[in-house]
Amino acid sequence: MYKISNSGWIEIIVGPMYCGKSEELIRRLRRVRIARQKTQVFKPALDDRYDKSNIVSHSGDSIEALAVDHPEGILQRVGEETKVVGIDEAQFFHQRLVSAAEELADRGKRVILAGLDRDFRGEPFGPVPDLMARAEYIDKLHAICVNCGEPATRTQRLLDGEPASYDDPVIMVGAEEVYEARCRHCHEVKK
Ligand code: ADP
Ligand code: ZN
Repeated sequence: MYKISNSGWIEIIVGPMYCGKSEELIRRLRRVRIARQKTQVFKPALDDRYDKSNIVSHSGDSIEALAVDHPEGILQRVGEETKVVGIDEAQFFHQRLVSAAEELADRGKRVILAGLDRDFRGEPFGPVPDLMARAEYIDKLHAICVNCGEPATRTQRLLDGEPASYDDPVIMVGAEEVYEARCRHCHEVKK
């Protein structure tokens, strides 16, 4: 699907939770390894819901990754021989991820990002919209709405079974919240 060339580029996989972003990122990275190209894979350090040194999809697929807390941590670690850089949960990185991805692509790397394009409120999430504007390739995946079975484009946050409020913090680490995939029609946010 993507041509192999000597110049770098940015590709990004977006969509709501459960749409298969991590699965797709892992699939692309495995194929790169079959081609015997060197990869390096990163994820934001704050996301320790799963194994610290792995990206794990909801279907159980996994690949090793290094958790870093700043985009600069990625730039510092990417070596000359690396052809492909994978980055999961892009939405949790600082906005400087945008310039970091551009710099890596300018250095000749294929940069594959995955991330939520919208937060639980349905608003554009962190550096992802900016990255979509600058990427050479975008794939927007759909999950399945758990309410009605239609394609889901949004992530529903529930607190004690109730839709969360618009004013809730976007990132709730360690809270007792539940997320599900929903379509435009079934997605609810308390104003
Ligand atoms: P993401 O990284 O986008 O959150 P994952 O790649 O981790 O998604 O997981 C995708 C997998 O989640 C699917 O292949 C499927 O097995 C599972 N899944 C669970 N709930 C849903 C849902 N509502 N819609 C689609 N897939 C779901
Ligand atoms: Zn629905």
